[in-house]
Amino acid sequence: MQAAGAVAKLHGNVKSEPDGGGMTRAEVLAWLKEDEAWKLDFLWEDADRVRKERVGDEVHLRGLIELSSYCRRDCHYCGIRGSRKLERYRLSEAEVEECARLGVRLGYGTVVLQAGEDPGLSRERITRHIRFIKTETPLAVTLSLGERSDEELIEWREAGADRYLLRHETSDIALFRRIHPDCGGVPSDRIEFLRKLKRLGYETGSGVMVGIPGQSYESLASDIMLFRELDLEMVGVGPYLAHPDTPLGRDASALALPPGEQVPATDLMTTKVVALTRLVCLDVNIPSTTALATVNNENGRELGLSRGANVWMPNLTPVKYRKLYEIYPGKACVGDTAEACQVCLLRRITSLGRVPGKGPGGRRRGAE
Ligand code: SAM
Repeated sequence: MQAAGAVAKLHGNVKSEPDGGGMTRAEVLAWLKEDEAWKLDFLWEDADRVRKERVGDEVHLRGLIELSSYCRRDCHYCGIRGSRKLERYRLSEAEVEECARLGVRLGYGTVVLQAGEDPGLSRERITRHIRFIKTETPLAVTLSLGERSDEELIEWREAGADRYLLRHETSDIALFRRIHPDCGGVPSDRIEFLRKLKRLGYETGSGVMVGIPGQSYESLASDIMLFRELDLEMVGVGPYLAHPDTPLGRDASALALPPGEQVPATDLMTTKVVALTRLVCLDVNIPSTTALATVNNENGRELGLSRGANVWMPNLTPVKYRKLYEIYPGKACVGDTAEACQVCLLRRITSLGRVPGKGPGGRRRGAE
């Protein structure tokens, strides 16, 4: 196949392998810095073509259940960081089960159990959730619960969890340390965690925030190459959105790079990363994220889906809790019920000539 054909012609200063997955870091970097709209049209076209060839027209729906806003970490950018004073919640087990049932009624193929890194969500409790969902529903289960212990990961996998998401956020070691004061201080720990997830048989997802203060084009190109090296099943990228009640949101001056070196946290830059991830990783599952819809409320979701993405993660969390899971302000769809979101997302998906996915929508390796 000829993935990245036009793309390789424009920025093919270093020879590509015939398959788009052979795109080089130099080419990726050149595209990240490209701002001419007519050239970018080639990138969008190639990413959309490869998306169609490799993963088809289905948009897989993964219902997001935000289990808990408690967090023991203190990430400098995150609105639910542990030391921030805010009202916290943890869904009851019955509420989680009701969310999962709602996901089935709405026709979703997967539920994503996401939370702050909350020790109050015990190993046993998460195991009960997984067992319930796997025995009572046809849904696939994705976990996104932060860096948890080996015993927990093994037990949850044995209970039937299918996937695990943990973004490495940035592969720049110095930047990672500065924004994660209490994460052992190194992205390599997270990268090792991702490798472990793969060894345990989880479909594994990572990703980054685009435009974190201090993020250079070079480090972002390395992130995209790392997605391929890790052979990920899922990659989620969204723009960084400053939260005014966090250290980074209050003052980014110590980290931000000079203009021209700092990656901007825009919808354009985010969709470049989506498109390049599609061209580099080919058959990976890529969501069009809520953060992208937040930075561009009008058509951010559509831009993501037409530039390489094939997943949508509608929110199933009961509306009364949504405001309390405020990782950044102005989150798209925060007040909309899951039923209202359903009408909107089906309209948007079909307007692009795409179809809602059926079934769990796992990675289609090597599909032509
Ligand atoms: N605790 C789990 C973890 O760390 O993976 C899941 C919850 S965490 C809040 C989910 C993601 O939110 C993070 O991986 C991060 O990329 C994103 N996030 C947090 N704060 C953000 C911000 N200010 N702007 C954009 N994304 C943000």
